[in-house]
Amino acid sequence: MEFEAVIGLEVHAQLSTRSKIFCACSTAFGAPPNENTCPVCTGMPGVLPVLNRRVVEFAIRTALATSCEVQKKSVFARKNYFYPDLPKAYQISQYELPLALAGHVNIEANGRMKRIGITRIHMEEDAGKLVHEGEFAGAQASLADLNRCSVPLMEIVSEPDIRTPEEAGAYLRRLRDILVYLEVCDGNMEEGSFRCDANVSVRPKGQKKFGTKAELKNMNSFRNVEKAIEYEINRQTELIEDGGKVVQETRLWDAAAGITISMRGKEEAHDYRYFPDPDLLPLVVDGAWVEELRKTIPELPAEKIARLTAAYGLSKYDAELLSASRALAAFFEASAALFGGNHKVTANECIQWKESIASGKLFPETIAHAVEDRETGAISATVSKKLVEIAIETGKPIREIRDELGLTQVSDAGALEEIVSRVLASNPKEVDSYRAGKSGLLSFFVGQVMKETRGKANPRIVQEVLRKKLG
Ligand code: ADP
Ligand code: MG
Ligand code: ZN
Repeated sequence: MEFEAVIGLEVHAQLSTRSKIFCACSTAFGAPPNENTCPVCTGMPGVLPVLNRRVVEFAIRTALATSCEVQKKSVFARKNYFYPDLPKAYQISQYELPLALAGHVNIEANGRMKRIGITRIHMEEDAGKLVHEGEFAGAQASLADLNRCSVPLMEIVSEPDIRTPEEAGAYLRRLRDILVYLEVCDGNMEEGSFRCDANVSVRPKGQKKFGTKAELKNMNSFRNVEKAIEYEINRQTELIEDGGKVVQETRLWDAAAGITISMRGKEEAHDYRYFPDPDLLPLVVDGAWVEELRKTIPELPAEKIARLTAAYGLSKYDAELLSASRALAAFFEASAALFGGNHKVTANECIQWKESIASGKLFPETIAHAVEDRETGAISATVSKKLVEIAIETGKPIREIRDELGLTQVSDAGALEEIVSRVLASNPKEVDSYRAGKSGLLSFFVGQVMKETRGKANPRIVQEVLRKKLG
């Protein structure tokens, strides 16, 4: 029997606002423990949370960029559970009435386009963290760092529309790129600002009803999400083929071992006793505000890739590489505007130097002049690379460096003729062999001329002059 996987993803994205979701504490990463805390985010009695407008703005912009319907009214709820890094003993989240519903993201995987539905987007607060360090009364001590308490998160839940690990990876990468384009999340999976839980089930191919799902946690890279899902699909398939039954449970991905391990079953699942938070009014979103925010949505990755391909004649692959960052794509377009030659070469240069571009060490003019000088034959590809390297180091205009170092290529046929004649005169045997039919010797002569000119001759012109003189 053939099996098919059904996958739904829950993404937690940390919103890059400067302050927390319900108080004015800083969200800055790496502060000394408990420095970024106040009575509100440490859950002191009698304090009142106040919703950060910026958090709502970021979540609405995400909803618009993923074609969700922003709800006029949504409600914050208390999700009750005890944990030492959650002093209030509840997390404020949205439950029955979330901020946004029914969106989608278009992806491309396994060579075809596909639409993945988004069930809902809601806002919530993060919890703190425990540090297991030192000793207390002869036992292992645990310390609580509450800096992360109330850092704003957005949860994005997908429909169970995903069928393969590749589709899951494509969806996550596209979603991450959208959030980064919107500048609402830094998208860093390793540092935990973009986290994903994967729900996986299998069913006999052709069956309508979904199988029982397992929820996978603890994957900290796109690659690991794909690997964990792949492992889980195989595990469930083999289990069913051996006459067993998948149980609903939460499983942890062990990246080192490459396996998923049962963490807790359905019986141990929490009963969170959600109820509307009486300290927060229902959130009512004004339609005019949503329309204002709609105007701030930039060109998104899919649109940018399509436009770069059409407008500059680039391959889809190059357009994708350039669109990996808004800044890189903008740099390419600025370079292309300065020199209208071969955009493909300009694109390659931008991709080659993308790290220096990202760190602000290159100007569009540098790339434009390098590409133009190569196309006119003023410099060779080797010299171009060297000049760009020096430009990155010194910040000087590339043509100034070129002239200072005298690295202009000799393209003047007249000047090259004399050198070519000299080379031919000192290699009479090779000249005879060439004339007798060993045409492969042409590159030998080119090499000799390059040596004479210390690499500054334009190889195309050298070949022309050689062919002419050798008859
Ligand atoms: P829970 O209440 O267990 O969290 P939800 O209905 O909220 O379950 O769904 C959570 C995620 O699991 C969603 O992304 C959804 O698409 C996905 N999902 C639901 N049922 C299945 C299933 N049978 N197989 C795979 N994924 C599923
Ligand atoms: Mg869930
Ligand atoms: Zn605070």
